[in-house]
Amino acid sequence: MMSDNLVKYNIAVVGATGQVGEALFEILHERQFPIKNIFALASSKSLGKIITCGERTIQISELSKFDFAQVDIAFFSAGGEVSSKYVPKATAANCVVIDNTSTFRYESNIPLIVPEVNSSEIKHFKKTNIIANPNCSTIQMVVALKPIHETYGIKRVNVSTYQSVSGSGRSGIEELAAQTSSLLNAKGIEKNIYPEQIAFNCIPQIDHFMDNGYTKEEMKMVWETKKILGDESIQVNATTVRVPVFFGHSEAISIELKTKFQLGDVISLLEKSPGLIVSPENKEGQYPTAAVTAAASDAVYVGRIRRDISTDSGLNLWVVADNVRKGAALNSIQIAEILIAKYLSNC
Ligand code: NAP
Repeated sequence: MMSDNLVKYNIAVVGATGQVGEALFEILHERQFPIKNIFALASSKSLGKIITCGERTIQISELSKFDFAQVDIAFFSAGGEVSSKYVPKATAANCVVIDNTSTFRYESNIPLIVPEVNSSEIKHFKKTNIIANPNCSTIQMVVALKPIHETYGIKRVNVSTYQSVSGSGRSGIEELAAQTSSLLNAKGIEKNIYPEQIAFNCIPQIDHFMDNGYTKEEMKMVWETKKILGDESIQVNATTVRVPVFFGHSEAISIELKTKFQLGDVISLLEKSPGLIVSPENKEGQYPTAAVTAAASDAVYVGRIRRDISTDSGLNLWVVADNVRKGAALNSIQIAEILIAKYLSNC
């Protein structure tokens, strides 16, 4: 949490009417981010809309007409095309951008940050004025992997995800709600967002297919885990699945460690690691779930911790988190808090 700070910052939220935008305003207020002026930016179709951030009411401004010279830090969450076009304009105006899209994540001179894992990399923002926020599924996984990797070394990660429809923005939520209601009323469904029916179903495709048969979402987890943990040798195999849950992503993760471990030691390690809340018991109902435990909260929850009986040095985890908060808005604001505390406060 931020304490009162004499230095206050001019902030812009690009994608202010979206889900991540809404969460950004909420969390900026909750954590008392030191704001001087705050601008809410969206497309021309949102002109006239009003956004609230605590006591402040903010009129939506049109991104295409906005002058970023009035801003110190801009949070971008309006899709890749918008970031490609407008982030360079913002950085040219000397504004630091924290970008939620995948546009800049894989550029070697741009830091990709999860504060609990690699906050020391933030300093490299000076090369481009851009800091990339990772994919939501990667963020929650690496918060749990980091202490294990640091202590035992990780050879390989095999992960299956169960991702909520809010990961596709407001339109994903609308599609699940509409299809569910139609099917319960014995009517036909419309498919606008997902390639298959999402209501009462699971879809083993998130983002488009790549030449190697994996989807882009799966490869994001591979590329980003290596970059954030700073270790190209970690092998990652991901299967990402969209499920009919509104908020919160779940992940079943099998990890092959480089060294032998005691299960009790791993549990103690996770319990004292930042950002994690651990359910140590494997008992009925004593595990975190996306909709009930994770949605609307800030932590990454870990449960179902057990040895993998199929291999000597294998460990299984079940990890859930709120994809809109820790997976996007909260992580971005945690980055901004470090940015102002360590790098901008003397400017
Ligand atoms: P969303 O609910 O669909 O909102 C999209 C936002 O982008 C809206 O504010 C929209 O404004 C704005 N926008 C779209 N086109 C624009 C344009 N041409 N000019 C200006 N603004 C434009 O999506 P979301 O869930 O908030 O996600 C936003 C971004 O964050 C995406 O890139 C997504 O990949 C990333 N992200 C999302 C999550 C998640 O869990 N949802 C997690 C990590 C990262 P209008 O209302 O005016 O159209």
